[in-house]
Amino acid sequence: MRPDTPADHTTEAERLLRTAGQYPEDREPLLLRAAAHLELAGDRARATALYDDLLSGSEPAEPFLIRALKAANLWEYGHEAEARAIITGVRAARPAEPAPWEIAAETLEAHDELEDAEATFTEAARLLVDPAQEITYALQSLLTGRHRVRRLLALPHDEHDTLADRLHTAAVPLDELHDPKRLWALGSSDPAELQAEITRLRTELGSYRTALSRPFPVAVLHWPEAELDELLAAYPELEAEYPTYRAHLTDIEASLRELAQSGTPNLGIVPATVPSYEAFAASESTSPATPALLPQYTTTLAARGLATPWPPPRTSPCWCGSKETYGDCHGGTKS
Ligand SMILES: [Zn+2]
Ligand SMILES: [Zn+2]
Repeated sequence: MRPDTPADHTTEAERLLRTAGQYPEDREPLLLRAAAHLELAGDRARATALYDDLLSGSEPAEPFLIRALKAANLWEYGHEAEARAIITGVRAARPAEPAPWEIAAETLEAHDELEDAEATFTEAARLLVDPAQEITYALQSLLTGRHRVRRLLALPHDEHDTLADRLHTAAVPLDELHDPKRLWALGSSDPAELQAEITRLRTELGSYRTALSRPFPVAVLHWPEAELDELLAAYPELEAEYPTYRAHLTDIEASLRELAQSGTPNLGIVPATVPSYEAFAASESTSPATPALLPQYTTTLAARGLATPWPPPRTSPCWCGSKETYGDCHGGTKS
């Protein structure tokens, strides 16, 4: 389902750019996602052109995020000086969101500029982390990145490192995961084990980087009851996907919980309607009765920024539209 080859990524980018033509109001999230696919396809110059396009337009919603992504991309294909200048500008602007800071710091880290990476992470942590407030996923990721770079520099723990350790709940503690001595010690005795450790560190870095520099929700489709009735009346071929409305709701909650348990960040639910689904099918020159079209439709709605974050707070109304709170409805143990 996910694009794998460079050609797949190019195809996906083209599809997103076509969608941006259809929905100009959702252009920014669509172009950012298209640029990410072009980067993955190795078409870095074209990705830069998309970032420039967004920055030259009127009032981008997330100018510092776009700049940081542009810098990360430029540095990958030989434009180091320009990338550094952009990163300096992002730091000086002191954005109020964690994502631009983390992308800037990780770009420095990826090019072995560890002191500058540490300084960038630290500026961001001082500016954005308020222990009295809830630590969001994006802030935790920032603190984890900072912890990693500081371990590589052999710096002693400070408050923010301790906080990063406390927030990290995975089986392997952060200090073990980020311990450079362990890597060096292993290196002398067993190259295979060293390689495994390096791979593990890279994977960890990669998963945060993916989550952050691709801040796109992984969304699940929700057909409101009347829409689902209309859909199945028009396209009975889709009944296998949606046996009943109740089962559809249970499936949504179960899929999202499974994704959350597997560590997928940034989850959401997108509302589906029959007219928008038919319009999407027409734009893909495919019959709406084709089940394989449903995941593409979902991705496209999410790429347009239409997902509602999941889970909702337990005391907020449930996502399903019942009048109950999430905790008493699908967020409870009964589902
Ligand atoms: Zn630690
Ligand atoms: Zn519910």
